[in-house]
Amino acid sequence: MSYQIKSNLPVSGSHWGLLFRDGVAVTDKRDLADKLKERGYEVSEIQEAGTVDNIVKTVDNAAVEPEQEIFTCPKCAKQYKSASALKRHFDKCEAE
Ligand SMILES: [Zn+2]
Repeated sequence: MSYQIKSNLPVSGSHWGLLFRDGVAVTDKRDLADKLKERGYEVSEIQEAGTVDNIVKTVDNAAVEPEQEIFTCPKCAKQYKSASALKRHFDKCEAE
């Protein structure tokens, strides 16, 4: 079992033998987690195997939507999802 230790300040660096990043550190030492909880840190159990880095990465990835490239006909401004589809249209595009 791992514990996430969260400070109410966005501290980074080494405190209590833990490496904090933006106020968050992780430990698997329960006695240390309990001690920090008594001192006012927010302590939560991490159920899944993994580190805060993994959790942050997952959130980052979820926020990024794949970019969809759009091909626009320069004559009539119709939009296509592939260059070949645009080319087929472009060859017979009747717009001036
Ligand atoms: Zn067109």
